[in-house]
Amino acid sequence: MRVADPHDPLLRQVLPLSDELRGAAGFELDPVADQAAGQRPGLLQKYARRALMVTTPICAVHCRYCFRRHFDYQSTPRTLAQWQPALDQLGRDAAIEEIILSGGDPLMLTDHRLGELITQLESIEHLERLRLHTRLPVVIPQRVTAQLIQMLRSCRLTTIIVIHTNHPAELDSSVAESLGRFSDAGIPVLNQSVLLRGVNDTVETLVALSRKLINLRVMPYYLHQLDRVAGATHFLVPRETGHRLVAQMRSQLPGYAVPRYVVEQPGMPHKTLLD
Ligand SMILES: *Cc1c(COP(=O)(O)O)cnc(C)c1O
Ligand code: SF4
Repeated sequence: MRVADPHDPLLRQVLPLSDELRGAAGFELDPVADQAAGQRPGLLQKYARRALMVTTPICAVHCRYCFRRHFDYQSTPRTLAQWQPALDQLGRDAAIEEIILSGGDPLMLTDHRLGELITQLESIEHLERLRLHTRLPVVIPQRVTAQLIQMLRSCRLTTIIVIHTNHPAELDSSVAESLGRFSDAGIPVLNQSVLLRGVNDTVETLVALSRKLINLRVMPYYLHQLDRVAGATHFLVPRETGHRLVAQMRSQLPGYAVPRYVVEQPGMPHKTLLD
């Protein structure tokens, strides 16, 4: 962040503003219907073959546009015993082949707690892949230790890391190093961004972000249209602007560097492609 610049795009992501108190029709506490997707404490399933675990309420940053900013984390399991109903459910449902660890941020767990959970998941025979959705490699790059890499490498499941960055200034040399540790270990790294007014709603920023990512061996995955969560109206970029930005990105980047522009629509069996 640039010091003393209230418009800094990194600061904007975490700065509480009085704008948040402005109500707006259609902005809700649970915009993506997480509540309805709850299967067992901590376990969400919306899509075929994959399920998501809300592993902790804790994040290293509190993004003001977070679609889980009002999520009810009361029933989030903290111990293996509390995870048992979710683990039993996963064990019973042989159609699930991929488990996504989300949160909060799964890398806010200690290696010990994360390892315990991964060991349980590995023992579920029909699981094939482990995906971690995490912002920690970006906001606390030191979290990506040799020990963590070792744990993921020795996991039976194919591991995929999905980070979350929105602006090229988030990717400094220490972040480059932390991301390189996954790639060097043969663990694919993807990125998801959210299209945010005042943060990354220009073609220059989005192109610079994608270029920086691919140079770091990180594949741009999703560019999310903002989830309409209460308190985040000031971040909204109209879809027409989003379409235009993605079209401009496409004319400046290799095909693999253009993220899929998507929105999450409750009730749909997949994220909805917007372009
Ligand atoms: C977005 C999401 C996923 C992952 O979807 P992909 O399209 O596979 O990245 C899985 N579960 C839930 C509940 C989600 O919201
Ligand atoms: S890192 Fe993700 S889960 Fe955590 S506050 Fe930000 S958007 Fe929400």
